[in-house]
Amino acid sequence: MICEFCGEQTVKKKVKKQHWLDGRLYVVENVEAEVCTECGERYYYAKTLDTIDRLLKSEHEVIDRMDVEVVSLK
Ligand SMILES: [Zn+2]
Repeated sequence: MICEFCGEQTVKKKVKKQHWLDGRLYVVENVEAEVCTECGERYYYAKTLDTIDRLLKSEHEVIDRMDVEVVSLK
């Protein structure tokens, strides 16, 4: 597809996505996305986002956990 921001082509890639659901942050690996070759903007398929939501709401395997720093620009 064509990037909405810079007009360049995107390519299909598997990415690591930060995903919020019900106020919790998840990191989801191997997420198929269209990634802009110029600016790096990512586009996700609605079907993929639904799949992630369904996975997280059901019983799922957790492969890793990470601490997340929360900071603020002054
Ligand atoms: Zn772009």
